[in-house]
Amino acid sequence: MHKATHMSTQVPRTIRMQASDNVAIVVNDGGLPAGTVFPDGLTLVEGVPQGHKVALQDLADGEPVVRYGVVIGYANGAIARGSWVSERVLTMPAARSLDDLPIGTRALREVEPLAGYTFQGYRNKDGSVGTRNMMAITSTVQCVSGVIDYAVKRIREELLPRYPNVEDVVALEHVYGCGVAIDAPGAEIPIKTIRNLSRNPNFGDSVMVVSLGCEKLPPARLFPAGAIPIGNAEPSVVTLQDAQHVGFMSMIDSLMQTAEKHLQELNARQRVTCPASDLVVGVQCGGSDAFSGVTANPAVGYATDLLVRAGAAVMFSEVTEVRDGIDQLTARAATPEVAAAMVREMQWYDDYLVRGGVDRSANTTPGNKKGGLSNIVEKAMGSIVKSGTTAITGVLSPGEKLQQKGLIYAATPASDFICGTLQMAAGMNVHIFTTGRGTPYGLAAVPVIKVATRTELANRWHDLMDVNAGRIASGEASIEDVGFELFQLILDVASGRKTWAEHWKLHNALALFNPAPVT
Ligand code: CA
Repeated sequence: MHKATHMSTQVPRTIRMQASDNVAIVVNDGGLPAGTVFPDGLTLVEGVPQGHKVALQDLADGEPVVRYGVVIGYANGAIARGSWVSERVLTMPAARSLDDLPIGTRALREVEPLAGYTFQGYRNKDGSVGTRNMMAITSTVQCVSGVIDYAVKRIREELLPRYPNVEDVVALEHVYGCGVAIDAPGAEIPIKTIRNLSRNPNFGDSVMVVSLGCEKLPPARLFPAGAIPIGNAEPSVVTLQDAQHVGFMSMIDSLMQTAEKHLQELNARQRVTCPASDLVVGVQCGGSDAFSGVTANPAVGYATDLLVRAGAAVMFSEVTEVRDGIDQLTARAATPEVAAAMVREMQWYDDYLVRGGVDRSANTTPGNKKGGLSNIVEKAMGSIVKSGTTAITGVLSPGEKLQQKGLIYAATPASDFICGTLQMAAGMNVHIFTTGRGTPYGLAAVPVIKVATRTELANRWHDLMDVNAGRIASGEASIEDVGFELFQLILDVASGRKTWAEHWKLHNALALFNPAPVT
């Protein structure tokens, strides 16, 4: 994987995103002390940590503070030029109303097709393409998880060596299935998610399900008629409470025999040349800092544009991290229907947060703030740039499977695990993850490419970060350079090249989004 190169940033530097901004962020590792004089004459009146904002002009009490050309807050007191503009001196603006939004008003360039880029993937009968060859065992209920774990260990040790084309066996574990209000509004989300997770293209054409036998979510409800694409096999079901199972080893024997049938099928899969349009890429960020919106996310946005031009599907998500930019998103909607669907998802999420007694400001973490992000408005402006510049052509509700190409807004919580799980259920075959604070995040069944926002992080976590976008801040590389490098890495990883998270087998648990009550 890419080894970050060290670059000293001795010259004091700031980055201003737009000409109308009255703050800029400090680039230098370790921040800069009071008295620092920038090449343009700006002098720091107090120390400013790396990634934090400095006032470029005197700001009066109540004056808007502008970054990304957007009001990210109001000064709650006079702020002198050269001061540190921390979260403490800012009042957050109210959330943008979902009424009277601009619809499709932004003049977007005609997307110029990008041909000739391919990868080596596993073509499935339903037309989807896997980037990995994995066997998955789905469960209808958490009760069976210990038994599946036991079986997976035996399958790995005893069966997998005989099927060398199959990379691994994974249990799609979750805590759902019983003790839930199965018919409540919102309960369909976790059910659809489990169903569609088991149909991820990396798992081939067939599905194996383990049921207990008395749960509220039986296999017939998880996979109703028509849930499996025509041409694919019906799911194999092993039910632990079946009378035929006398003793634990009888259950394990059933699981091993069923698994072996699936391994035989999966082992016959071969990588074939597939166009880049077969990629389904999910992008998200986690552990963000003020550089996320300056380096890594713009580079991802550039790669997103290339992927969309190549005919692929790219999903961006994380409702609370785009909510404050809803007017930018509806302005980029390809049709009024797409804009209406985005507003519907935002309204649903606003209501969901109100029911929980919080609002979007609950999103930012202590680490975000330490990294220079004062509030969710500033975080959102940096997050949205992952979506690139093309028209938004589709919207996906949580738990649904993606059925189209292009730039898709897939509504999910911002939680790294829940977002990743929902993008995986949507059919994601490569995951892009940007981080500034640093996270070792990974998934068992889909490769995760991690992009560091800062060279300091890329150096310190040299064997966890796949791409160093910090080179953009230091001037060693352009957004286009890193974005194109990422695009090529996506094709390589889709063809089987391992990411660092795969190298170390770092796997976060799947996490279902369940807005419905638990009984
Ligand atoms: Ca996230």
